[in-house]
Amino acid sequence: MTKRTLRILQLYPQDMNIYGDNGNALVLQQRAKWHGYNVELLSYNPGDTFPADIDIIIGGGGQDSGQDKIQADLLSIKDTLRDLAENDTPMLLICGLYQLFGKFFKTQDGHIIKGIGLLDMETHAGSERLIGNIITHSDQFGDIIGYENHSGQTFLGSTVGSLGTVQRGAGNNGQDDTEGARYKNIIGSYLHGSLLPKNPAIADYLIETAATKKFGDFTPTVIDDRFAKLAREHALKRPR
Ligand code: GLN
Repeated sequence: MTKRTLRILQLYPQDMNIYGDNGNALVLQQRAKWHGYNVELLSYNPGDTFPADIDIIIGGGGQDSGQDKIQADLLSIKDTLRDLAENDTPMLLICGLYQLFGKFFKTQDGHIIKGIGLLDMETHAGSERLIGNIITHSDQFGDIIGYENHSGQTFLGSTVGSLGTVQRGAGNNGQDDTEGARYKNIIGSYLHGSLLPKNPAIADYLIETAATKKFGDFTPTVIDDRFAKLAREHALKRPR
């Protein structure tokens, strides 16, 4: 039987890809293979033609300068991303791209980097960077473990939920104990590390959602996650 193919698109890997975010692409690729799919891992950088038939979208974090650099291009593909999101395509956006899926990011020097407003939220740089290991909790995914490093403080509007509740660390803004955002099948998060190697439940959620949407079913393989478990145990013990 020919294997079924999932097409994963990584947004702006040249400019938005720090603190190991590329690991998210590798984990999705490998776990989708273990679950029995063929995987095409594609990249989209400024000026590229947006590929058709995408099943999962991921994007990472970046410096303010990286966000400036991709801003115009991101705004130019806003309608395509909105259509995909409204059509329930699973997406994972980390930190810098998470911010720009919201309405805007106002940087420390006061300039506004416009976002695409797919997520009902806005981000304002604070005077101190929020840096360190972070643990949050979600009913769906359990403890979510990662590393954060951002000046932006994100405030969620009423039409998005949070991804997790902060147990240790700052999260969206260091004030309201929320971390990340959920809307449709979009997950936004500040967690680098990378996120998915230590939180395979989120990777499997993205794969299951994509496979079910495309093929109407998903039969998971039982994956030996002993290294992920060890990484989680180790990370849980690390200081902030
Ligand atoms: N430049 C953004 C900020 O400082 C995003 C940082 C990041 O992606 N780690 O908030």
